[in-house]
Amino acid sequence: MSSDASRGPHIGVLALQGDFDAHKIILEQLGARVSLVRKPSQLEPLAGLVIPGGESTTLLKLMQYFPDWWPEFQRFKDNGGAFFGTCAGMILLAREVTAPAQKSLGFLDAKVERNAYGRQKESFEEVGQWADGRPLEMVFIRAPRLCEIGPEVEVLASHNDVPVFVRQGKIYAASFHPEINGVSDLHKIFLDALAE
Ligand code: GLN
Repeated sequence: MSSDASRGPHIGVLALQGDFDAHKIILEQLGARVSLVRKPSQLEPLAGLVIPGGESTTLLKLMQYFPDWWPEFQRFKDNGGAFFGTCAGMILLAREVTAPAQKSLGFLDAKVERNAYGRQKESFEEVGQWADGRPLEMVFIRAPRLCEIGPEVEVLASHNDVPVFVRQGKIYAASFHPEINGVSDLHKIFLDALAE
C-alpha cells in the first residue's frame, strides 16, 4: 500500500472493460496517482481500487484469464485496501446478486438486483439527494438496485428513497455512473477516506 501525501494516494482503476479512462482522469484531476490495473499482481502497491461500470458478466469472463483475481482481491482487502465500485463494479462487490444470480466478491453486505433501472435505451439522468438533502446529479445506465443492505452499510446518497451510494468501512459503491457527468464529489470522498 502506498499513500505519498505530496502526490495523493496511489489508486488503481480496474481496466479490463468499461469506463476506466474517465475514472482515471477524474482521480488524477483530484491529485491521485493512478495506475490502470489489468493483472492481479498490479494490486500490491495500491491504496485503493476503482471497479468501473460496464458489464459485470463480461468482467467475470475476463477475470477467468487470471484465476488469481479472486484470492488477490481478498488479500488486497484484508491488507487494508479500499474499493470503489460503480454500477457493474458495485455488482461485483455485493454479497448477493439477483436477476440473474452470479458470482460476486461479497465485500459489501448488500443484495443487488441487476438492470433494475431499465435497459440501455432507458438510461436517464436525474437529481437524487446526498444524505444531508443536498441535490446530486446521477446518471443511471442499466443500473443495479440495492435491495437489501446490512446494518454496517451507511447510505451516503439516495434516489427516490432507494440507496444509490453507500459505504461499508473502506468499501464504497454507487449504482450510477459518477464519472460521466462532471461530478467528482464521489471520487473525492473516496480519496479523502484513504487519506484519513
Ligand atoms: N447492467 C450491467 C451489469 O449487470 C451494469 C451496467 C453498468 O455498469 N452501467 O453488469
